[in-house]
Amino acid sequence: MSWYRLKSSITLALALTLACGVDAQERTLRVNYTFSGNSREARIYLDDLNVIDGWAGRRVNMKDLCLAGNGQIMMTDAATGDTLYRNAFSTLFQEWQNTEEATQVDRSFENVYLLPMPASKSVVEVKLTDNYNKVVATLRHTVDPDDILIRHIGQAPPGWKYLHQGGTPEECIDVVIVPEGYTAGETDLFYKDADIAVKSLFSHKPFNDMQDRFNILAVELASRDGAVSVPKEGLWTETALSSQFSTFYSDRYLTTLRLRQLHDKLAGIPYEHIIILANTDVYGGGGIFNSYTLTTAHHAKFANVVVHEFGHSFGGLADEYYYDDQYEQYYNSDTEPWEPNLTTLVDFDSKWKDIIPAGVETPTPAPVDAPTSKMDDQQEKAVEMLPPVGLYEGGGYMSKGVWRGSFDCRMHTNSCPDFCPVCRRSLERIIRFYTEPLVTSSKK
Ligand SMILES: [Zn+2]
Repeated sequence: MSWYRLKSSITLALALTLACGVDAQERTLRVNYTFSGNSREARIYLDDLNVIDGWAGRRVNMKDLCLAGNGQIMMTDAATGDTLYRNAFSTLFQEWQNTEEATQVDRSFENVYLLPMPASKSVVEVKLTDNYNKVVATLRHTVDPDDILIRHIGQAPPGWKYLHQGGTPEECIDVVIVPEGYTAGETDLFYKDADIAVKSLFSHKPFNDMQDRFNILAVELASRDGAVSVPKEGLWTETALSSQFSTFYSDRYLTTLRLRQLHDKLAGIPYEHIIILANTDVYGGGGIFNSYTLTTAHHAKFANVVVHEFGHSFGGLADEYYYDDQYEQYYNSDTEPWEPNLTTLVDFDSKWKDIIPAGVETPTPAPVDAPTSKMDDQQEKAVEMLPPVGLYEGGGYMSKGVWRGSFDCRMHTNSCPDFCPVCRRSLERIIRFYTEPLVTSSKK
């Protein structure tokens, strides 16, 4: 099914909403990079350029960012210097830089970004930043849309269908759900799992109130083996996306490092955000901001975990849970994290200070009968029953020096039924950022 051909009905007004300077034919420029280095340094290399018919990215606020992320990509017109498009992201490479292995060896990681194809010669700049928002690696390269070596891909897209359609790809945020480790005979099982994910997403605020701004599609992608790789058990399988548990030797961390493979398989369908469902009952997964969510579909907590991980990959939300015995410094006390749902109090005014009700003590003490802080199996309770928004110490894996806005949240435990008010507001801002022009440039 070609969504590109479906667009004959688009009104002129809609077509004109694309920012000036990008391709009037609406094509996607897919740029493949290699990020490499070690714990001390990072380098960025350009691999190659691809062009795909259609553009499923946003059509508003093209020059703005809603969150800083750990890196950014920016496209400017080579002749005028005008900004055409910006986006922010996080990467597995930067997570790896904090591992013991990165102190011993150089490694490289694939990264793939989707940009609107420029109408004329443009400059693309990629930069990686540290916890202090200082640029630690950058690469600038020119893109000539007439370059004959920009490979035209996506001309034979895989089969796909809508699971939820809020509108056209031009109007909506396009999320694709991708099967990993499902054989050709397990397609129906995948669609059943994907439906659970969609229902769970739209049972959370603000997604349920704003579901007309989303399209969710499921793609057909068969794997040879009906299971994903579990290295600690010596199990290596052949799957569509080559995912594996034990990423960076962390048992539950299920990821794919094959981002080119992932995007190659999706080329030609209208997508921007990615949810990968793995056909296994082993607990695990991960979500990387503006890269992908990957989670296991047959674990008892699947419906909650997939939304938690989407909170990372779509919303740039941080984990609000922590460990009482965690001494590693994931967040520096002298700089404010960019994630909207944690604060180190360096710049709390930029976070949720404005929605703490009058009379609530800050820092806010935990309720006397507070259950354990970890992601566990507490009895479910309504968010409305929780203590008010405040300043609760503990979050981002650290029990001290990092604060969260609510006692419990989808980003805190699997048992909490919804996102906390802080996360809800941030997600709503991002959904609006993708789907409506900002009224002013001042946004919290
Ligand atoms: Zn939250």
